[in-house]
Amino acid sequence: MFIDVHCHLDLVEKETDIEKVVKECKKNKINFVSDGTNVESNRKMLEYAKKYNVSVCLGIYPEHVMEMNDKELKDEFDFILKNNGKISGIGEVGMDFVKGKEAKQEKYFREFIKLAKKIDKPITVHSRKAEKECIEILEDLKVKKVIMHYFSGNMNLVKRIIDNGWFLSIPTCVKYSEHFQKVIEIVPVELLLCETDSPYSHPDRKFPNNPNNVIESYKMVAEIKKMKLKDVEKQLEKNFKRLFGR
Ligand SMILES: [Zn+2]
Repeated sequence: MFIDVHCHLDLVEKETDIEKVVKECKKNKINFVSDGTNVESNRKMLEYAKKYNVSVCLGIYPEHVMEMNDKELKDEFDFILKNNGKISGIGEVGMDFVKGKEAKQEKYFREFIKLAKKIDKPITVHSRKAEKECIEILEDLKVKKVIMHYFSGNMNLVKRIIDNGWFLSIPTCVKYSEHFQKVIEIVPVELLLCETDSPYSHPDRKFPNNPNNVIESYKMVAEIKKMKLKDVEKQLEKNFKRLFGR
């Protein structure tokens, strides 16, 4: 079984026929985890979980945190907690300082981490331009079950992630990204996972991406780690089960 640990099925649906995508994934034995990014997206995730029997995480993307007031955010935390039985984890959450540092993002990232710890499920972290800050908060709150998704920080920070025993997921853009090829090189295979971040991050710079392409990340792991594709598949399935507890 190949696993795409991070994609956005609702955004894929806007671009293409997802019935077909899901069917193809089942045929190719590709499992995936779809992550919510806002209130509407989280409801969509629960619909998909029921309709297609796929794994989902719920969360609020940092940019969307900025658009919501405290009451709306509190209500969404309650909603996620109430639906705990239907979800695999918390995601996509984190901080994004592309437009500058935001105290509000840190506040709610901490809340999401506390929630993930409370329900004892993994948290998928977005850390663009806030790589070090995200690591510091995760260390501060002593969280164990972490996926650093699309991690673009430097190799010293990658090493710090390894020391914490957190997972790094390799996006399909690794096909042309030297940064992610380097990440594969230095991260032990026991801490690697693969993702597509569909509809983004297409291996051939196209749009939209879909979970079926996760195989491209697996191939790159096999090549760089000098392993058979079959062995990478087995190891990452083991990693996934260890993290998601099944
Ligand atoms: Zn994403």
